[in-house]
Amino acid sequence: MNFNEIVGLDKADPLASKRDEFELPAHTIYLDGNSLGALPKAVKSRVAEVVTQQWGNDLIKSWNVHNWIDLPIHVGEKIAPIIGAAKGQVICCDSISINLFKLLSSALTLNTGRNVVLSTQDNFPTDLYMVQGLSDLLGTDLCQLKLVQEQHIKQSLTDDVAVLLLTQVNFRTGQLLDMQTLTKLAHDKGILVIWDLAHSAGALPVELDKCNVDFAVGCGYKYLNGGPGSPAFLYVAKRHQSAVKQPLSGWMGHAKPFAFDANYQSPENINQYLCGTPSVLAMSALDAALDVWQNVSIAQVRDKSIALANVFISLVQSQSCLADLRLCSTENSSQRGSQLAFSHESAFAICQALIEKGVIADFRAPNILRFGFTPLYTSFEDIWNAVGILVDVVNTRLYTEPRFNLAGKVT
Ligand SMILES: *Cc1c(COP(=O)(O)O)cnc(C)c1O
Repeated sequence: MNFNEIVGLDKADPLASKRDEFELPAHTIYLDGNSLGALPKAVKSRVAEVVTQQWGNDLIKSWNVHNWIDLPIHVGEKIAPIIGAAKGQVICCDSISINLFKLLSSALTLNTGRNVVLSTQDNFPTDLYMVQGLSDLLGTDLCQLKLVQEQHIKQSLTDDVAVLLLTQVNFRTGQLLDMQTLTKLAHDKGILVIWDLAHSAGALPVELDKCNVDFAVGCGYKYLNGGPGSPAFLYVAKRHQSAVKQPLSGWMGHAKPFAFDANYQSPENINQYLCGTPSVLAMSALDAALDVWQNVSIAQVRDKSIALANVFISLVQSQSCLADLRLCSTENSSQRGSQLAFSHESAFAICQALIEKGVIADFRAPNILRFGFTPLYTSFEDIWNAVGILVDVVNTRLYTEPRFNLAGKVT
């Protein structure tokens, strides 16, 4: 692959103009949008408006005048088409961790008589920690975490399993699980499913309704570009909404919050998953960020994501000096999310040296160098340049300098 071919790919890219809708620093190639999405320009003006006009001037009237009160619903409905959900099933609130607590509790109370929450050894730790916390609270008779390897999920769907909790795209390797098949197999055994879409919402087509999924959670600050600490979202299939309960029954999830009734009463719809007052500034930022998706086809996003990653792989593999970087993601793009993981014994130092040179990737313990591909604002030329800098860092052994081995608090 040569530079002319790269230029040709950018010329033919139907998403190329989307990049102008983002604020991107000069001299930086950002391959970490899977951890923190870049800043959409529309967010800057929206946040300024919400702070200055809505909060600063209109004060408490804004709950009605600017409809702050409906932001969780409104933003949820904007996310819904991105994840294949019809109306009335998605709401924006809290973090993934907190939303998982609500959904795990709901699923366990719908599926009484079974106590096992089945998940994968390599799931994102907070997903597992939340089950462990719930298990401590309820006791193992009601909630018991069981972990298996990804390739053993199917044979572990036994009749003591109440809930199958899976992350669609593995945060380290990028392995993409088959939502449709696994959901169907679980249902055949009377098991409810919760899918974590942290690395799939906005990265690839997700079809929650079509796959008959029961529950899902996802992240606002990764591929949806809602900003640091952006609120998360959750999905509850319509068919469960009148039967479910969730224990964080705060006033915002009451049928009539402003009746100030002493007893909790569920609205028996998706609103029951709200807990306390929404973070209006953060939710407004996410609301504005989601406008970027208005005229975007998620199929085009997926096609470009695969193409970017494949170009990255082929450029890396064409360089003999990069032979020590071992690809840990599958080469089969249909089984991969929008990221690539490479292992290397000096992965941490290489990552730090890349960052100094303007290529932002990330490191995941113990030895993984991770590159995320965000088709809305990453070009093929970015990939070409990033691999060029990677070659440079490895060839010159720049990464062996001591300053690249100092870990910050966040990696
Ligand atoms: C990023 C991520 C989270 C983050 O959870 P928060 O509670 O929102 O911080 C959870 N699960 C997975 C799989 C993730 O990738």
